[in-house]
Amino acid sequence: MESTLRRTWSEINLDALKYNYEVIKEKIGKDVKFLGVVKADAYGHGSINVSKTLEEIGADYLAVSSIDEAMELRLNNITMPILILGHTPREQVSRLIEYNITQAVTCKAKAVEYSEEAVKLGKTLKIHIKVDTGMSRLGYLCEGNFFDTGVRGICEALNMRGLFAEGIFTHFAVSDEPGEECREYTNHQFKLFKDVCSEVERISGRKFLIKHCANTGAVSEYPETYMDMVRPGLLLYGYGEFARKMGLKPVMTLKTTVSTIKIYPEGTHISYGGIYVTDKTTRVGVLPYGYADGFLRALSNKCSLMTANGPARVCGKICMDMCMININDMPDVEVGSEIEVFGENNPIETLCEIAGTIPYELTCAVSKRVPRKYIQNGKIIEQELMLRM
Ligand SMILES: *Cc1c(COP(=O)(O)O)cnc(C)c1O
Repeated sequence: MESTLRRTWSEINLDALKYNYEVIKEKIGKDVKFLGVVKADAYGHGSINVSKTLEEIGADYLAVSSIDEAMELRLNNITMPILILGHTPREQVSRLIEYNITQAVTCKAKAVEYSEEAVKLGKTLKIHIKVDTGMSRLGYLCEGNFFDTGVRGICEALNMRGLFAEGIFTHFAVSDEPGEECREYTNHQFKLFKDVCSEVERISGRKFLIKHCANTGAVSEYPETYMDMVRPGLLLYGYGEFARKMGLKPVMTLKTTVSTIKIYPEGTHISYGGIYVTDKTTRVGVLPYGYADGFLRALSNKCSLMTANGPARVCGKICMDMCMININDMPDVEVGSEIEVFGENNPIETLCEIAGTIPYELTCAVSKRVPRKYIQNGKIIEQELMLRM
């Protein structure tokens, strides 16, 4: 196990998570609730430890994408409210109720299913209504000509037996994009959401306890959208331009080690396809970190990883289990040396830019072969092997 843990691993800094939470809390003010989005195993950071930390420091809600993700948290003693953003099969409604999990209701067909199942059980399911204001994914479509039918559909759901609508929410499509057009689009989505809420509340004569819409971009750029609760994911984990702007810290550091060092003469072709050819005698380090660990192959020959002597270029194609770096003139880099793939010293944003992707994809891509080390109060509190041993 020790050898596996010294190969390639991710360090999850729960102190940085707490710090980010506190800074975001400070920004949103004490009257706005905080929902931490922990879907996709907390964007690859490990949803159990991330959720435990959020629960301890007083976050109000968690969100996941499926009942399996919600059950993982409940079975690991997370008791705080959890919202499922995606659909749940009707057969699972009894578990939602038994484990006190809140379900998003996104359309009439699902509302009917959830209601029927809850009524059969003689129980009540807690729901949040999802409104589609322009994301064009899940939710009651309320844009333009669909306003009245959307509002009517939501009111219908409110009156269905077995359902208790605690909240209502929508999702922004371009709140994290620059430019006037995106600002207008987001403002329009927000106004539409508020109109839907007030029309539904007027017709039904009921008030929602929690209205929410602000994701990462909105928490940073649109304070007027906070309403009763904010719903950031990426910002909490400390990546992207908005995190930089707010001085937040990256929660994950991905590290690997040098497993072999070779010195090649000029003219040596390195790795599959031989696209990298040494132009002089070259010292090359082999790292046990490849695309099966989550390194995007698209970064082959294009990016640098951080050594004790500064950035080292990845040379040649990234393989399934390994990659190679040029460590000429890097005397401190030896077999066993630690290499930072991304983290404080090698920003994930740089890799993303080169790969043409977003930080979300890189942290989610860290595979189960990569163990996680959780750090709290500056000390490793848990080493989690993800393989089924
Ligand atoms: C993923 C997700 C979020 C969080 O998005 P970020 O951009 O990471 O802040 C918020 N709300 C919904 C509905 C989501 O699916």
